[in-house]
Amino acid sequence: MSQPTNDVAAQLEIPQLEQQLQTSVTTGLDTQTAQKRFQTDGANVIESGQHTNRLLDFLQNFTSLMACLLWVSGLIAMVSGTVELGIAIWAVNIINGLFSYWEAHAAKKATDALSKMLPTTVNVLRDGHQQAILVQNVVPGDVVEIQAGDAVPADARVLSAANLQIDESSLTGESVPVAKKSTYQHGDGKFSITNIIYAGTVVTTGTAQAVVLATGMQTEFGKIAHLTEAQSSMVSPLTNELNRLTRQLSVIALLIGLGFFILAIFFVHYPVAKAFIFALGMIVAFIPEGLLPTVTLSLARGTQEMAKKHALLKSLNSVETLGETSVICSDKTGTLTQNQMTVTHLWLPAEEFTVTGTGYFNNGQIQFQKEPVKLAQHPDLNRLLDIALLNNDTQVVSEADGKQAPKILGTPTEAGLCIVTAKAGLNLPERQQAAPRLTELPFDSDRKRMTTIQKQTNAPDLIYVKGALSTMLPVCDRILDGNQVRPLTAADQQRLQQANQDYAAQGLRSLAFAYREATDADQGKYAISTAEQHLIFVGLAVMQDPPRPEIYQAVQKCQNAHIKIIMVTGDSALTAKSIAVKIGIVSDQARVITGEELAQLSDAQLQAAVKNEVIFARVAPADKYRIVSMCQANGEIVASTGDGVNDAPALKRANIGIAMGLNGTDVAKQAADMILTDDNFASIVAAIEVGRTVYKNIQKFLTYIFTSNVGEAFPSLLFLASGGLIPLPLTVMQILTVDLGTDMLPALGLGAEPSEPGVMNQPPRARTAHLLTPGIIWKSFGYYGLLGALISTGGYFFVNWQFGFPQVPLASTGKVYAMATTMTLAAIVFSQIANVLNCRTETTSLFRVGVFSNHRIISGIIFEILLLAFLAYTPGVQSLFGTAPLNGLDWLFLACIPVPLVLLEEARKWFVRRRAARIKN
Ligand code: ATP
Repeated sequence: MSQPTNDVAAQLEIPQLEQQLQTSVTTGLDTQTAQKRFQTDGANVIESGQHTNRLLDFLQNFTSLMACLLWVSGLIAMVSGTVELGIAIWAVNIINGLFSYWEAHAAKKATDALSKMLPTTVNVLRDGHQQAILVQNVVPGDVVEIQAGDAVPADARVLSAANLQIDESSLTGESVPVAKKSTYQHGDGKFSITNIIYAGTVVTTGTAQAVVLATGMQTEFGKIAHLTEAQSSMVSPLTNELNRLTRQLSVIALLIGLGFFILAIFFVHYPVAKAFIFALGMIVAFIPEGLLPTVTLSLARGTQEMAKKHALLKSLNSVETLGETSVICSDKTGTLTQNQMTVTHLWLPAEEFTVTGTGYFNNGQIQFQKEPVKLAQHPDLNRLLDIALLNNDTQVVSEADGKQAPKILGTPTEAGLCIVTAKAGLNLPERQQAAPRLTELPFDSDRKRMTTIQKQTNAPDLIYVKGALSTMLPVCDRILDGNQVRPLTAADQQRLQQANQDYAAQGLRSLAFAYREATDADQGKYAISTAEQHLIFVGLAVMQDPPRPEIYQAVQKCQNAHIKIIMVTGDSALTAKSIAVKIGIVSDQARVITGEELAQLSDAQLQAAVKNEVIFARVAPADKYRIVSMCQANGEIVASTGDGVNDAPALKRANIGIAMGLNGTDVAKQAADMILTDDNFASIVAAIEVGRTVYKNIQKFLTYIFTSNVGEAFPSLLFLASGGLIPLPLTVMQILTVDLGTDMLPALGLGAEPSEPGVMNQPPRARTAHLLTPGIIWKSFGYYGLLGALISTGGYFFVNWQFGFPQVPLASTGKVYAMATTMTLAAIVFSQIANVLNCRTETTSLFRVGVFSNHRIISGIIFEILLLAFLAYTPGVQSLFGTAPLNGLDWLFLACIPVPLVLLEEARKWFVRRRAARIKN
C-alpha cells in the first residue's frame, strides 16, 4: 500500500482513496489487515523530542551544594593526614549520590507507570462493526468516529462531518477553532485543507467520520514533535521550600562547623588540621543529605497510593496541593450520582406512563427484559419514543458469540433512552432505514439541546430535538396533545413546568422532546438558529440517577476535614438541590443560583455567595471558571471536576483540575491535573487524604532526621565545653555512620506510613504554612533531640563507669575508649529506634496503629542494628571506625533505651488527645 500525502489524499475521490489505502469506508479494515499494518507501521504514538541525558542526570546527584561540600571536606581530610576519613567521606558521598539517583529513578518509574494506566480509546469501524480500540492501535486505513471533546487520533481525511470544529492551536498556534468538512478546499498555509484533520488537535464541536492517512511519527504532529521545546517543568512550592531548607541547613552546618573549628583551637588547643577534622564531623552531621530525593520518593509513593484509590495524578506536585484543598467544585451527574440513567416515567400532555422493569445501564452492559414492557399504543408516545430512538448516538454492540449481554457505547442519558425504546419494542434498524439521519446539530452543554434531521421518503425531513426543558420551551410554539397539534398556551407551559418540578423535587431529572417537519424556509440547510425554532412540544422522559452509595461517607469526611463542596451542575435547580440535600452537601436552607442568576451577579456578590451554602444549577461550563476564580479570590485552594470539552478552562484554572476517566472527553483529561479512573467523588476525598498523609510523613521524616543531629553534636559540645577534659565521646567517622548509615532506612520507612486516624478531622493546611513548623523544631532539636543526646552520652559514661570511672579518669585512647565511643554510637541508634516509632503518629497511640504495622520501619530497625553489630564486631572495620565489641551489660543497657522513650511520648500523646477531647466537648 502506498500512502498518499495529505495534500493528495484530500483531493482524491472516495473510491480512489479506498483503493490507495486498501480499505473500505463502509466496513473499515478487517482485523487481520489492521494487525499486519500495525506490525509494519508501528504503534500510533508520538515519541517526545525531549531526550534526557542520562549521564547528566546521574552526575547531578554528585554535584549538589551538599555533595560539593563533602567532596572538599574529604579532600582536606586526606591532605591533612587522615586518609581513611577522607576516603570514608568520599565513599559516603558516592553511596549517597547513588542512593539519590536510585530514589529519583524509582520515583520517575512510578510516575511513568501511572501515565500508562489511562488508556485512551477511539471508536473505529473494523470488520463492519463499530468498536472502541486503543488509540495506539489505530493504523492507516482505519475509519474512525470522532466527536466533541475527542483528541484527533491521527492524520485523517474527513468522510462526513456535522458541525465539525477543530482546535488546531497545537499545530498552528491559532486558538480559534477552525471548521472542517468533507469537501476539499485549500486556504493559505499548510494546515488549511478543509477536509484533513490532524493528530494532536482536538474536536471542540460536532462529530465526524474520517479515514486515517498517517499515524504516529508519520503524522504532521509527529514530524514536528522533536522540534517542540522541552516543557519547563514547574517547580512546586514544596520543592522550593525543600531547596531553601537544604541551602539554609547547609549554611548553618558550615557556620556550626566554623564555630566548632574555632572553639577546638582556642579551648582544646587542637592543631589546625585536627580542629578541621573535628569541625568536619559537625558539618556532615547537619547537612541533610538525601532529603530531596527521599521526599520525591514519598511523593511518588503517594501518587501510587492514589492510583490504587482510582485517582491518577499527572505530576508529583499535585500531591501536595491536594492536601491543601479547601473547596471542591463538583459536577453532579456521574460524580456524585451513579450515572445510571433509568427512565422511570414518560410524561405526555394527555397521559403519564410509568416505566417498569429492571433494565438499566451499567458499565456498558445492557440488560433487556425477557419480555419488553408493552407500552400502550399511543401516537404521542410513539412520537416521543421515535425521537428518543433516532435522536440518539448510542450504539448497541452484540458480542459475536452472543453469550454476553449486548453493550451500549454512548452516554448514560442516551443509553437510558435507548433502553426504554427497546422496552417499548421499537426497532432501531427498521426506523433507521425508514428515516435515516441526514445530519445533526450535536449536543453541547451551553445550549443543552441536540437535534437530528431524519430523511423521509415522499415526506419532508423531520427535525427531532431533545434537551433540557428550560432551553426547549423557548423554541417550542406548538404542542402535540392527543394526536393533535395545537398552539402551546401559557396554561400548557405552566402544566408541564409543574410536572417537571414535581419530578425534580424527587431528585428525578427530565429531558424534553420536540419535533417539526422541515419547511421550505429551511431550504434543506439546517443550522441551530433556524432548525431549532417553532417546534412542537411532545413530552418528557423522566430519569432516575441515584446517588453513589459511598457518597454519604465521603461527604461526611469532607465536612469533618473542613472541605467545602459546591455542586456545579448543568441539571435543573430543583433536581440539583434535592440530590444535594439528600447526600448531605447542603441543608434545606441552601441558596440555589442558576446560570441566569449568576450572569446578573457581580464578582463581589458571587465572591460573597460562595462563602455560604450554595448550589449552582443549569450553569454552562464557562460559569464554572468564574465560580472557581471567585472561590480562589476568597483564598481557597480549589479542586474542580469537569468532563466536557468546555470544562477545560475551569480545570486549568482550578488548583487541582479533575477530569473523569470513564466519561470525560480527551480535552478535559488533557487539561486536568488528576484523572479519576472511576469518575467517583469519593476517590477525590481518598486522594486528598493521601495528599495530607504524604505531607505529614515528610514532616515526620524531618523530625526524625533532625533529632539525631542533636545526639551527634552534643558529645562534641561536651568535649569542647570541658576544654578537652572529656575525650570526644563520638568520633567523626561514627557521626558519618549515623547520618548516612543507620538513619537512612528507618527514615525512608516513615515515608510509607499510612494515614494516621484523624488526618481528615483537621482543617486543610494553609498555603502559607511552612514545612518546618516551630513544633517540629522544638520536638526534634529540643525535646526528642536533647533526650537522645543525654542518653547517648549516658552510654559513654556507662562504659567508662564499668572500667572504674570516676575513680579512674575517662579513657582517651585504647580499647576502653573505643568501647565507650561505640556505646555512644549504639545509644544514638537505639534512641533513634524509639524516635522512629514515636514519629509514626502525631497524637494517636503507637499501640493503636500497631508497633509492627509498618514493615519498612521494622526492616529499617533490623538493618541498623545489624549494621551496628557489623561495625562493632568486624576486625578490619573496627580500626577504620574506631569501634570495639560491646558486652552483655552494654546490650542490656541499649535494649532498655527505647522503652522509656516510647512510653514518655505515649504519655504526651495521651495528654494531647485528652486536651483535644475536652476542647471538643
Ligand atoms: P453535570 O453538569 O452535573 O454533569 P448534567 O449532565 O445535567 O450534569 P450537562 O451534561 O451539561 O450536565 O447537561 C445539561 C443538560 O442538558 C442536562 O441536564 C440535560 O437536560 C441536557 N442533556 C444532557 N445530555 C443530553 C443529550 N445527549 N441530548 C440532549 N440534551 C441533553
